[in-house]
Amino acid sequence: MTTSATNAIHSDFDQQHLWHPYASLPPTYPNIVIDHADGVYIFTEDGTRLIDGMSSWWASVHGYNHPKLNAAITKQLGKMAHVMFGGLTHQPAIDLGKKLLDIVPAGLDAIFYADSGSIAVEVALKMALQYQVAAARPSKQQFASTHSGYYGDTWHAMSVCDPVTGMHSLYGNQLPMQHFVPAPPMGFERDLTQNERDELTTFFAENSDKLAGFIIEPIIQGAGGMRFYSPQYLQLLRQLCDEHDVLLIADEIATGFGRSGKLFACEHANISPDIMTIGKALTGGYMTFAATLCTRTVADTISQSNYSALMHGPTFMGNPLACAVACASIDLILFYDIEVRTANMQSVMEQQLAPAALLEGVAEVRCLGAVAVIELDDAVNMPTFQSLLIENGIWVRPFGKLVYIMPPFVITDAELVTLCQSLLKVVTLYLTQQGQK
Ligand SMILES: *Cc1c(COP(=O)(O)O)cnc(C)c1O
Repeated sequence: MTTSATNAIHSDFDQQHLWHPYASLPPTYPNIVIDHADGVYIFTEDGTRLIDGMSSWWASVHGYNHPKLNAAITKQLGKMAHVMFGGLTHQPAIDLGKKLLDIVPAGLDAIFYADSGSIAVEVALKMALQYQVAAARPSKQQFASTHSGYYGDTWHAMSVCDPVTGMHSLYGNQLPMQHFVPAPPMGFERDLTQNERDELTTFFAENSDKLAGFIIEPIIQGAGGMRFYSPQYLQLLRQLCDEHDVLLIADEIATGFGRSGKLFACEHANISPDIMTIGKALTGGYMTFAATLCTRTVADTISQSNYSALMHGPTFMGNPLACAVACASIDLILFYDIEVRTANMQSVMEQQLAPAALLEGVAEVRCLGAVAVIELDDAVNMPTFQSLLIENGIWVRPFGKLVYIMPPFVITDAELVTLCQSLLKVVTLYLTQQGQK
């Protein structure tokens, strides 16, 4: 990219004053100024049109500027943008609750509205702890997870993230100590071996007396590695949690609302968690919003105990605008026939990206549902890669060795083919350039 083109889509103020996710200030390379977005396209300030391959981090599943979502939020805005949820309630919160209970895995029956994914995870962990105290198992105070997980960036959520990629070392011993088992073996269609079963079973036998809950992202581990694993793992985990009075916490913040090929990824394994978190696509990417759901047993046990209140209450809990747009988003998801839509996306991406597997410097190409991953041998040089992406009209945001796409569900087959072909071209150009260095 030429210097003038670069300057046209960068802001000096941004560079000097605004922190961005996981970045230094000023950043090591500039952020691109976006003017507006429509459908599957985002437009830079100088008018460059990019096909969005990221759904703004799993969230904008219906693309941008969607007439139905715009209408829902505008209608609610005319009535009230917000009202406190302490002591008050409203129709959008009730409507959303009904819609959610209709579609989430069986058994989930109580809903806590939170203001972001990380907070939904904090609430899930608090819920699990309060449940164990109420159930007279006070030794169960810690949590377990697998390696390669990601559950958000707040303190306790961070403590259950992958200890290496979650940078546990940086925060030293201030972070609560949790328990970790190896990451679930890679491969959605692969059977668990007896050894792998035994390992998890032994872990529960040895540690479950300390464990309030086991938290996991069902089927797709997202930000911790973009890994797909077998439903059998989730089934075994469900069984072990039942046997040892450990609550199974499914974090569907990334996987929920169709991304994995099922409405919720737990459906691949036919299991229901005790506690489930949702967020990201919940509002179709319009607002920050999330929720923690639990079973009637968990809710009743907490509520009938000596300390019966669930100790959390964000200022913007149950925000009416967010509830209204979430209702409209769920209606759209149900309207698409999401399993058919994502199966179609998966087959297009598989077919189009398959040639990447033959490139020198590519370790693996994998797809599941509406997610496709090109795993490279080495971490991506971001400034170089990003320039190539912009020059080729697509927006993708790799991390480490992982180049991945999870496009909006509204993308047409033709647009998806263009996205994949452009990505293939970028990866090829990038690897050739790197190889010549
Ligand atoms: C993104 C994410 C979170 C955190 O959500 P925020 O809204 O960013 O706080 C938690 N868990 C999973 C699985 C996620 O993908």
